[in-house]
Amino acid sequence: AKDSGRDGYRFYHPAMGQAASGRQRLELDLRGALARDQFELHYQPVVDARSLAITGFEALIRWTHPTRGRVPPDAFIPVAEETGLIVPVGEWVLRNACEEAARWPGDMRLAVNVSAVQLMRPGLVEGVVATLAATGLHAGRLELEITETALLRDNPAVLACLHELRGLGVRFALDDFGTGYSSLSYLRRFPLDRIKIDRSFVEAVDDPGTAAIVGAIAGLGASLGAAVTAEGVETERQLHAVRLSGCGEAQGYLFGKPLPAAEAAAFLRRKAGT
Ligand code: C2E
Ligand code: CA
Ligand code: CA
Ligand code: CA
Repeated sequence: AKDSGRDGYRFYHPAMGQAASGRQRLELDLRGALARDQFELHYQPVVDARSLAITGFEALIRWTHPTRGRVPPDAFIPVAEETGLIVPVGEWVLRNACEEAARWPGDMRLAVNVSAVQLMRPGLVEGVVATLAATGLHAGRLELEITETALLRDNPAVLACLHELRGLGVRFALDDFGTGYSSLSYLRRFPLDRIKIDRSFVEAVDDPGTAAIVGAIAGLGASLGAAVTAEGVETERQLHAVRLSGCGEAQGYLFGKPLPAAEAAAFLRRKAGT
């Protein structure tokens, strides 16, 4: 197909064309979404697994397109990553989340998801520093959630970026832990403050083998000085199991779904009695 010249498209199946243009249209819509104010952030509580007190909120992006309706992040984040649009989208997320969290009572932690693409581009450190300064959010309240993909290439620039931000007081969580592979080496090489155990383990925690893995991860976290959060806890039974396995914190529908900013703030103010 390489040297088929002008006929290079002759094996092109119509379905492929459809897929390509569907993706292109999504990219186009995504480009317009920032300008047209179609993004919003929701905030999901993270709780202490014993006291159930809220320790922080994770910001999760929401996109409502006028004709597509709600587009789930899993459907557009990968496209944003491929096209580089994740950089401006990520800046928008960070800026808005920090602005919001700066208004919360107390010193509640704010977790923000950061894509590997953002970490691999220069300018993240400067962007975070500028955002903290502009919003007045204390660096110690910000936790950036990264995935193994970001650490996969053992990029010295990524490591430098993590160390620099950590030096300022920003913390790092390793998201979706257990879903990738060779995870253990990252724990040794990268400065991580938290491990988030992927929902797929929590879902299957009734299975003794899975429970043993969750326990091993929690033990690993403890010995590395990292906090451990169980993701996607939906039932009392799962809460009980992850708590027994040694997870210090938990997140999931059992404690609260992601809430619009105003509802999360109102909830916190009620709790603070202000
Ligand atoms: P994630 O970072 O692992 O976020 C957790 C996802 O699990 C969220 O889905 C959340 O709504 C969902 N979840 C929380 N508790 C439960 C539960 O008890 N049961 C079930 N079934 N699901 C639960 P969401 O909001 O659809 O986000 C999906 C993914 O999209 C996120 O996974 C993250 O990888 C990505 N994402 C979301 N917002 C952002 C963002 O602002 N920036 C970047 N780079 N990625 C984001
Ligand atoms: Ca996350
Ligand atoms: Ca996760
Ligand atoms: Ca995820």
